[in-house]
Amino acid sequence: MSTIKIHDREFVKSIPAEEIAVRVKAVAERINKDYAGRRPLLLGVLNGCFMFLSDLMKNLEIECEISFVKFSSYQGEETTGTVKQLLGLAESIEGRDVIVVEDIVDTGLTMHKMLETLANGKPASISIASLFLKPARLRVPVEVKYSAFEIPDRFIVGYGLDYDGLGRNLPDVYDVKE
Ligand code: 5GP
Repeated sequence: MSTIKIHDREFVKSIPAEEIAVRVKAVAERINKDYAGRRPLLLGVLNGCFMFLSDLMKNLEIECEISFVKFSSYQGEETTGTVKQLLGLAESIEGRDVIVVEDIVDTGLTMHKMLETLANGKPASISIASLFLKPARLRVPVEVKYSAFEIPDRFIVGYGLDYDGLGRNLPDVYDVKE
């Protein structure tokens, strides 16, 4: 098992790049089938989505477009916890089939907020593709139609996901060492 250090923590390799590639391809194949004859807009949520979205899109054979959004890092106080504003949605999504592409759905709060905002843009449909899903952590109902991996409640890094800014470049995924 290979172990790495990022900042103050140790991480152990848990999902090799080859396995990620197989799962991402399988998600793409489902999207190819489900969206045949349509032209979905893949809406990547920065920063974590970039590697997943890139590999996912390379495996799509249907016509598709891409755009990105980001949440502001501003955090205010509200009963639901963190309040973030959605930034960067430049084009109209009215009548479009939108696939939101995320790195990981954890509590689901970010995605819940995102869906609320996107619904105002009157898309024809919205579905979610998340590389990782932590089902045990979900706090709000969010339907993740396409997830490559369901994982236990552990902090992971690599393949686009960071620990305090670092680790996004790793081709494999690592679990924090308890
Ligand atoms: P949620 O709103 O679903 O709780 O949080 C989603 C966001 O939290 C993800 O987009 C990601 O930025 C961050 N996150 C949640 N779990 C992990 C994890 O295990 N590793 C990393 N690197 N980020 C995580």
